[in-house]
Amino acid sequence: MSDEQVFDIFIVGGGINGCGIARDAVGRGYSVYLAEMKDLAAGTSSASTKLIHGGLRYLEHYEFRLVREALMEREVLWSMAPHIIWPMRFILPLHKDMRPGWLIRLGLFLYDHIGGRKDLPATRVLDLERDPAGEPLKPVFRKAFEYSDGWVNDARLVVLNARDAADRGATIKTRMRVLTADRKDGHWVITVENVDSGERQLVHAKLLVNAAGPWVDHLLGTVAGSNAKNVRLVQGSHIVVRRKFVDPRAYFFQNNDGRIFFAIPYEQDFTLIGTTDQDYQGDPGRVEITAQEIDYLCAGASAYFREPIGRDDIVWTYSGVRPLYDDGASMAQEATRDYVLKASGQPGEPQLLNVFGGKITTYRRLAESMLEKIEEILGTRGKPWTAGAKLPGGDFDKKDFEPLLASFRKDYPFLTPATSLRLLRLYGTRARMILGSARAMSDLGRNFGHDLTEAEIRYLVDHEWAGSAEDILWRRTKLGLHLSKEQAGAVDRFLRELNESVAA
Ligand SMILES: Cc1cc2nc3c(=O)[nH]c(=O)nc-3n(C[C@H](O)[C@H](O)[C@H](O)COP(=O)(O)OP(=O)(O)OC[C@H]3O[C@@H](n4cnc5c(N)ncnc54)[C@H](O)[C@@H]3O)c2cc1C
Repeated sequence: MSDEQVFDIFIVGGGINGCGIARDAVGRGYSVYLAEMKDLAAGTSSASTKLIHGGLRYLEHYEFRLVREALMEREVLWSMAPHIIWPMRFILPLHKDMRPGWLIRLGLFLYDHIGGRKDLPATRVLDLERDPAGEPLKPVFRKAFEYSDGWVNDARLVVLNARDAADRGATIKTRMRVLTADRKDGHWVITVENVDSGERQLVHAKLLVNAAGPWVDHLLGTVAGSNAKNVRLVQGSHIVVRRKFVDPRAYFFQNNDGRIFFAIPYEQDFTLIGTTDQDYQGDPGRVEITAQEIDYLCAGASAYFREPIGRDDIVWTYSGVRPLYDDGASMAQEATRDYVLKASGQPGEPQLLNVFGGKITTYRRLAESMLEKIEEILGTRGKPWTAGAKLPGGDFDKKDFEPLLASFRKDYPFLTPATSLRLLRLYGTRARMILGSARAMSDLGRNFGHDLTEAEIRYLVDHEWAGSAEDILWRRTKLGLHLSKEQAGAVDRFLRELNESVAA
């Protein structure tokens, strides 16, 4: 790339919103440069509850626009990436001390009917004394509703949007921090710094998109000298424990204080429990679960499960910071989950377009709204196109995962059933790019543990911007849950060797 090239759009932030906008924009014919200061999805976008959901709870706050849009996205996204997104049923146990059954029934009626549901099954009532979903729960819970939403591998959704954007011609740079952006000669001059080498570069663009998530106000301060507070930073944490139940359905639990949380089957052997909601003041890059959050989640889950959950059961935790649009709500959990897109800049000067708020579930619609704003400034190049456009590896019918898995296992019989499932869930049809003509595990090179092979690592480095063991073990895959410290260290050393051989 020459320094003189003027991109149409420069995007700050490689989370779901930045990558979703990059993909949509490049697919319409704009030239795009995206800079991410860490790894793709290293911010909030890998720390979510991983639900493609309407947000039943948001109905209580009358967020009908958001809920309807999110509900409609469930089936759209499922068909775009059926390897990493799939339907999930949720069990919502009823109890006299919590929201009344009629209120929940009304919410679920709306849920079933306002969101264009076609293939997802409708809500039903469950007798927990007879249904297996009642087995792990305390006997006091006798009745429940069961309803549909979706599951997503959040970090991979980000990477697949970036991959597709790059395949269509976008420049995607990771470990590239935006330091400054100045208006000069009718366009933006952006200074970026490679965080590993410290090398700096100038990039020119007509339009700047600020999709920096929890850093959005910080970037506005750097670029526009603004000290306005547009987003409210709200911490949310999860705990991961050894599998608490075998049922493939998830649980939606209510706490006595009216807050809700989920217990979700996770990575075959685990249960994911979360989330919390509390205002956050610190550096979003340093957020960590607090002792109070751990106690809150353990106590909440123990109120429902027959077997209590304690600190010793926890195998992993993660925390993220929601960049919620600051609508002045008094409580963190009441702040709007909807997104707001705002331009800053005087008429005639290069514009800065900011993303405030948003959900993983609504990222594609957010990108379409952003493209409407971009078109007003740069002129129209192409029509909306992303609804239903397959993401890499997702080019199969959304209901055909099982037949795909069967043929994959037939072609690679040397993989264990668990490894076949893991690879197909992560990479979909692109799993074959990793395996190629391999006839035995040994054809895939070194095995670093839990069947993480050299071939898979090389694929992640070559095609998915993986640069460190953490990128691989905690974002491209979740093998960090399975590998020992020594095995993780070996992955780290291997990556260093790879990076050095590329640099040499
Ligand atoms: C606990 C929790 C649970 C959630 N659960 C769900 C859920 O189940 N379903 C759902 O739909 N949504 C959920 N969400 C919301 C969703 O995760 C977020 O709205 C979404 O991930 C925000 O994405 P983003 O791209 O705006 O921000 P981010 O993912 O944070 O991306 C912003 C990126 O910008 C980069 N950046 C910042 N400054 C610079 C700079 N100067 N130069 C270069 N790069 C920079 C950062 O490194 C970061 O990667 C949840 C959020 C949380 C915290």
